[in-house]
Amino acid sequence: MSLQGRVALVTGAGSGIGRATALRLAGLGAAVTVVDRDEAGARETAEAVERGAGLALRVVADVTRPDQIRDAVTAAVGAFGRLDVVVPNAGINGIRAPVGEITPEEWDETIATNLTGTFLTVRYTVPHLKAAGGSVVVVSSTNGTRVFSIAGFSAYNASKAGQVAFAKSAALELARYRIRVNVVCPGAIETNIFGTTKARLLEQAGVRSAFPDGTIPLTGGQMGRPDQVADLISFLASDAASHITGTEVWIDGGESLLGETGFP
Ligand code: NAD
Repeated sequence: MSLQGRVALVTGAGSGIGRATALRLAGLGAAVTVVDRDEAGARETAEAVERGAGLALRVVADVTRPDQIRDAVTAAVGAFGRLDVVVPNAGINGIRAPVGEITPEEWDETIATNLTGTFLTVRYTVPHLKAAGGSVVVVSSTNGTRVFSIAGFSAYNASKAGQVAFAKSAALELARYRIRVNVVCPGAIETNIFGTTKARLLEQAGVRSAFPDGTIPLTGGQMGRPDQVADLISFLASDAASHITGTEVWIDGGESLLGETGFP
């Protein structure tokens, strides 16, 4: 599998799955634009790519801001001359609270980051992907696609389900340009995302409230690693997946098959 000569853009690449993906894509030969609102994280990722003899451009941008994402894409194409692979990955856990307690602002923050951020990233990269075809790999979740049992997670679940619906619509619409659009749905992966969770009154939201504990059949409970998700994203980004579009792939060690996610 090679991405030699290809150019990729990864959002939320300053940490976790995004960082692992930027490193893996670069390792396969792609030049990578590292987009994150966290400057230090973006710098660390870009430097790690360069230490591995890869090519990286670092852009500080907030995926909820159309102007910033537009400018990030312009910078990427300016630096590398083309765009082939796009990974809308930036996301937050956001608010966990009963539906009747979530403020409209909290709802908007989660939807803006996870769903609108995905739309904006695709919106501003598509004109460039049309030049020679390409691959978009959206990072969704088991939550909102197979699992709905984590207490107070309605905003996150809605954002993650929305990503899948958007990706499938885009896959059909963009197929004529040889642009493939797929979705990866990770289970619990060891990253910094758990620090982005705001939670209150979970005892009133029923179902489960323990998080991120749980049972993962393949590993006996051990969470997945960001580089395992990066492997899947790299495969979907590459020509090895040339006939795959409009589909989601769960990557969770069987966790979501437990129905209740195995949360105790
Ligand atoms: P992480 O917190 O380690 O990394 C997320 C990165 O996104 C951070 O660098 C952060 O600065 C950036 N980011 C957040 N909001 C942003 C914004 N508005 N603009 C630009 N950058 C922004 O988390 P992660 O676990 O690597 O999450 C990546 C994706 O994976 C998310 O979409 C998340 O929902 C999804 N996911 C994670 C898990 C998990 O268990 N870690 C499971 C399923 C899905």
